[in-house]
Amino acid sequence: MAVGRSELDALLAPAEGQSRRSIIRAVDVRKVYRAGAQETAALSGATLNIYEAEYVSIMGPSGSGKTTLFNMIGGLRKPTSGKVYIDQVDIAQLDTNELAWLRCRKIGYIFQTYNLLGVMTALENVMLPMSFAGLDGERAREKAIDLLKLVGLGHRILHKPDELSGGQQQRLAIARALANSPQIVLADEPTANLDTKTGADMIDLLAWLRAELRVTIVAATHDLRTLQKSDRIFWIEDGRIVRVARPEEIDFHSGRLKTDGALQ
Ligand code: ADP
Ligand code: MG
Repeated sequence: MAVGRSELDALLAPAEGQSRRSIIRAVDVRKVYRAGAQETAALSGATLNIYEAEYVSIMGPSGSGKTTLFNMIGGLRKPTSGKVYIDQVDIAQLDTNELAWLRCRKIGYIFQTYNLLGVMTALENVMLPMSFAGLDGERAREKAIDLLKLVGLGHRILHKPDELSGGQQQRLAIARALANSPQIVLADEPTANLDTKTGADMIDLLAWLRAELRVTIVAATHDLRTLQKSDRIFWIEDGRIVRVARPEEIDFHSGRLKTDGALQ
């Protein structure tokens, strides 16, 4: 191949019938963590471009930089160098209030460990981001109930997280991520702690959200089986995007890329 697969993002068009508007763009993002004298390069020049209403999977082994990349594109941490654009805006240019608005309204987060509040009910967990956004109590309550129904938890609204199964907690995390009707949902290994069937249901739900609500979904994973529903798959290795493909380019039996040899 004349060009490296790492440069293919620019060449690969979004899936048929989809918007070409870039919603997330990272350009040569580096992140170095310093602990005393020790430095770890968690990201070493990650570049990617994700289009509006795409479902993108970020595939990579543990330690490859997926969570760090999510923290950068989600505006939760600042890169050591490089640029992140959300909806064409360089987020380093945002002041504190604008960044808070972006985090609260534009992006929904599903964290690897869920980060649900154990003392609160499912309903209160979903209402919390709405109160940050200034939605009044009654409207927040109604919207939270609708979201909980949407994810199949309409019968569990007064349960606390530890009274829910792993799959239900993950659904609750999805409902909470949708609280302020974000354009983007970042899901960090949403199926990692789930059995195969529940994990597949989760992916179906994320794909449905993309199709119905036109939410851009970015899901980190290291599980090949979760990739089928994606529009595109980005591979991350040692803090860089090294390969981009569409699901139809993958032979899921052998786990190999049909055109370009081994995937992992
Ligand atoms: P992944 O989510 O793909 O498992 P991470 O982004 O969590 O990868 O981690 C990438 C690398 O950065 C790993 O080597 C990890 O140990 C390191 N790292 C992540 N967070 C920190 C941190 N807060 N301080 C120091 N090193 C970190
Ligand atoms: Mg991680």
